[in-house]
Amino acid sequence: MSDCLFCKMVSGEIKPDVVYEDEHVLAFRDINPQGPVHVLIIPKEHISTLNELEEEHAELMGRMFLTAKKIAEMENMAENGYRTVINCNRHGGQEVYHIHLHVIGGRQMTWPPG
Ligand code: AMP
Ligand code: ZN
Repeated sequence: MSDCLFCKMVSGEIKPDVVYEDEHVLAFRDINPQGPVHVLIIPKEHISTLNELEEEHAELMGRMFLTAKKIAEMENMAENGYRTVINCNRHGGQEVYHIHLHVIGGRQMTWPPG
């Protein structure tokens, strides 16, 4: 989608601080990190929210979580732990309408979230 911020990162029009990329996903550092490590993993295909997920996306979503595991290892936070979050729509606090998996770590998380 031409007016989507994260699609512009996939196309290269906007250059984020990329930590991992393959054929299916792009992972980059969040501009407003909520912890010492805060990476966003996005599918290269535009999917607006979790509500738009279809059966055909099942493998892609699996790849996003496998990428989270990879990033946790790369950032040396696998053993201590980290949090993965996908926000959906207004009540979920979604601000960018291209699905993204937050991977946050490097500090103790609290529960429940605000
Ligand atoms: P969400 O609220 O789940 O939609 O998360 C959107 C995230 O995108 C927020 O954590 C923002 O800090 C992050 N963000 C917004 N613009 C950029 C950008 N240009 N580069 C990196 N992260 C961004
Ligand atoms: Zn998009």
